[in-house]
Amino acid sequence: MSDRRTRPSRHRHSSFGWTPFFVLFFAVSPLFISTVQGMMAQQQQHLILVGGGHAHAQVLTSLNDAARPAHLKVTLIDPQVAATYSGMVPGCIGGYYSAADTKIDLVAVTQWAGIEFVHDKVVDMDFEKQCVFLKKNPAPLYYDAISLDVGSTTRGWTTTPGAREYTIPTRPIDALVRRLQDELDDNQRVQLVVVGGGAAGIELSMAVTSRYPNIDCTILDAGQQLLPSENEACRHMVQTRLTELHITVQHDAAVAQVTADRVVLQNGTSVPYTHCIWAAGAEAPALSQHLHHQRGLAGTPEGWILVHPTLQSISHPAVFAAGDCASIQGLLRGPPPKAGVYAVRAGPVLVQNLLQFLEGTKPRTVYEPQEDFLKLLVCGDNQALGFRFGIPFRGKWVFEVKDAIDRNFMNLFAQENLPDKSRIQRGEYNTQQYDAMVEDLTPLEPEEAAMLLQRSDDGVDFQQAWRVLRAMARDTTYREQVLHCVEQSTASAISHKNVYK
Ligand SMILES: Cc1cc2nc3c(=O)[nH]c(=O)nc-3n(C[C@H](O)[C@H](O)[C@H](O)COP(=O)(O)OP(=O)(O)OC[C@H]3O[C@@H](n4cnc5c(N)ncnc54)[C@H](O)[C@@H]3O)c2cc1C
Repeated sequence: MSDRRTRPSRHRHSSFGWTPFFVLFFAVSPLFISTVQGMMAQQQQHLILVGGGHAHAQVLTSLNDAARPAHLKVTLIDPQVAATYSGMVPGCIGGYYSAADTKIDLVAVTQWAGIEFVHDKVVDMDFEKQCVFLKKNPAPLYYDAISLDVGSTTRGWTTTPGAREYTIPTRPIDALVRRLQDELDDNQRVQLVVVGGGAAGIELSMAVTSRYPNIDCTILDAGQQLLPSENEACRHMVQTRLTELHITVQHDAAVAQVTADRVVLQNGTSVPYTHCIWAAGAEAPALSQHLHHQRGLAGTPEGWILVHPTLQSISHPAVFAAGDCASIQGLLRGPPPKAGVYAVRAGPVLVQNLLQFLEGTKPRTVYEPQEDFLKLLVCGDNQALGFRFGIPFRGKWVFEVKDAIDRNFMNLFAQENLPDKSRIQRGEYNTQQYDAMVEDLTPLEPEEAAMLLQRSDDGVDFQQAWRVLRAMARDTTYREQVLHCVEQSTASAISHKNVYK
């Protein structure tokens, strides 16, 4: 367990109670100077990481005890011993992965990294004293710097009457997997209602319905159309797959309340159910709402923590935040959406800025979230759907691309892949993005590339298609050329207005 006596350095500075006489007597002596220098050099600093989610995963491995300064102690606090990688959750529910495949073992990773793991939940903070308060252990933990990666909760689940009582929320995500696996089986007739027509609600519906054939599924979407930020061609592809799986979608279906067997809509109608998944989007977690509203940490009115593009709090310099719980201020395009991909890519930036702050310099590594990302949804039959640059994809190859991306990330934290620490030099931090190691060979010619991306047969080489997508992301000219070829071949299908460029 943690060393409860750890205090932030600045508090220990103020604890010297020497008299002016004593100071005068020794101040000029070389013995005094070298003693103070020695004390300063060895003064321990304490970094607390709250939450072992997507954004902190790489921080944990990068700040291992072979690489980080000897005087820097790192503690991770999380009420869960394993972090669930959400990208693989619908695949797990769909029967492609085991629950263990979707988890990062926080105990094993922190043990390897020489990071103390405190199995507890942060319930409050004192920014003046620089300490956190835990749910189980009454002793506060003091920090010199702290980083919050506490994710989000499911929007409206606690405030919609009956939702908490009768529905299965998407958060915590490992509980979602457990409950669905426990409550659904092959023999029982299930009337499933999924509240929320976003990517998570759609993907979960497709995964569950394709895995359990005895399910009638209805998606309740509060808006007028699914995935409004995608173009018509992408929406059409999703709708086609939903129809194939006999999944019904009701639009303008905002939920007023949930009873034991019906979901009651605001328009007065109701939908019967036996099981209901609440997937209505992300809401600021209780901790960040509390810290903003009660403790004065800068935040949005909804309770997301406001940070600079360096991920440092705009009000409290020793506080950093990343992932869903943070809202980055000062980006031209505004804060990125709440998605795991943005949390994961914040990790290397956090590593650099936390170290810079602890060294006493101004954090200067800026997080520039990508404008858009490759969205991939498991849809059953060993296939996935995807969208990028306004192009819809479907097929076995799309599933294989998704599987490769997800496994590459998870492999970084598998015990057998953690590097030999005796080969890591002090100060040698891994601040590369997790996918930087993927080999980038020359992609296909634009015309061939466009044809490949539009194929859905099993003969597509996923490596080749993935290479094309990566090349389109990094090379604007190549992207324009491929998009031009796609548009020519599907002239009427893709709306120019909505194509991502
Ligand atoms: C079904 C589903 C599928 C999804 N699929 C995708 C996808 O394919 N791609 C994608 O980009 N995004 C996806 N998302 C969104 C993605 O899950 C989130 O954006 C992502 O998890 C955010 O990561 P994070 O690091 O902010 O938090 P999380 O990964 O949620 O981690 C938060 C951590 O903080 C801990 N914690 C919480 N409160 C406290 C506390 N008070 N004290 C200490 N620890 C605490 C939790 O235990 C947890 O370990 C999906 C979401 C859902 C629900």
